[in-house]
Amino acid sequence: MQFRDLGAQYRALKPQIDEAILAVVEEGRYISGPQVRELEERLAAYVGVKHCVTCANGTDALQLALMAWGVGPGDAVFVPDFTFFSSGEAVAAVGATPVFVDVDERTFNLDPAKLEEAVVAVRDAGSLKPVAVVAVDLFGLPADYPAIKPICEKYGLKLLEDGAQGFGGAIGDELACSFGDISTTSFFPAKPLGCYGDGGAVFTDDDDWAALIRSYAVHGKGTFKYDNVRIGMNSRLDTIQAAVLLAKMDAFIGEEIAAVNEVARRYDEALAGSGLVLPRVPEDYTSSWAQYTAQLPKGVDRTALQDALKERGVPTMVYYPKPMHEQGAFEGTCVVAPGGCSVTERLCATVLSLPMGPYVGAEGVGFACSALLAYDSLGFDV
Ligand SMILES: *Cc1c(COP(=O)(O)O)cnc(C)c1O
Repeated sequence: MQFRDLGAQYRALKPQIDEAILAVVEEGRYISGPQVRELEERLAAYVGVKHCVTCANGTDALQLALMAWGVGPGDAVFVPDFTFFSSGEAVAAVGATPVFVDVDERTFNLDPAKLEEAVVAVRDAGSLKPVAVVAVDLFGLPADYPAIKPICEKYGLKLLEDGAQGFGGAIGDELACSFGDISTTSFFPAKPLGCYGDGGAVFTDDDDWAALIRSYAVHGKGTFKYDNVRIGMNSRLDTIQAAVLLAKMDAFIGEEIAAVNEVARRYDEALAGSGLVLPRVPEDYTSSWAQYTAQLPKGVDRTALQDALKERGVPTMVYYPKPMHEQGAFEGTCVVAPGGCSVTERLCATVLSLPMGPYVGAEGVGFACSALLAYDSLGFDV
């Protein structure tokens, strides 16, 4: 089986995807074709925000948001220690200082109590100005926004939702990518809603920020393409990618989110009582299950387990093997929240992500779980 079976999705949606791609090739408007604006309108309506600005990838989307806010040197931006590199990279790329904060051990997301402690500590230390929080919807689960938003308001911080893995998730009936003052996502092929290359988007209700982001994404353009009023970047979503996403959206909304939740439910059921710590979705939350990530019992040789599973045809991944604050790129340039990030350190040593996606099915879950439960040095009680 595959870790994320993009081929199964293509086979299911082939007629509309092929037609959409071919239409772009025939029309010839490869950059900023009409499909791009159509997609932005559909995404904004689905998420329930006023503006969607597409861009080249989810990393640029984060950077564009920080640029629109004028975040830069001397500014502190709070980022979970357990996430993909981009969440902190974008902060450093604009010259600000990432402050890495520990996460909750069951949801994998930013720990609000530790966030507040870190904000107060940085503020009181006085050398950096706390300006923003990057909250990540890790593995598809929205961060704890009901707790994070009031902290942002209390300390005057802007909230940037990194929804690269969270698109399609929700809290109650509020959808992911609507929680931040600005929210972002990625359309990297393996994300919940993926295109056939790189892609990303920025969401906001704020007219001025949306206009600034549109400008920064196209060389800091002013009133027309060859009027450049600020230093920006070249970060557009290709028309072909917009067409692919449009072709996938109905299935994503109508079927795939439900299907992937059914896969998660089957994993939960098959692995209950196995000794693995299973991912927790808090009451009223919906995950879009970018990953199904379990924690191994203490003392299990993860590499040996992965090798044994691979031999039986079950690919697994470790997201993520290293805390952000231990990445060489941040050495000497990041701040670690007071109290450290011991939960992240433990997760990095014990997490294992299983094959996931809307097309895994009961059969795929059964295949993966029987290989996992047969691995005796886990000490599973089967
Ligand atoms: C994938 C990812 C990104 C970056 O998206 P790209 O499109 O690959 O640039 C940012 N943040 C998180 C949490 C991600 O998983």
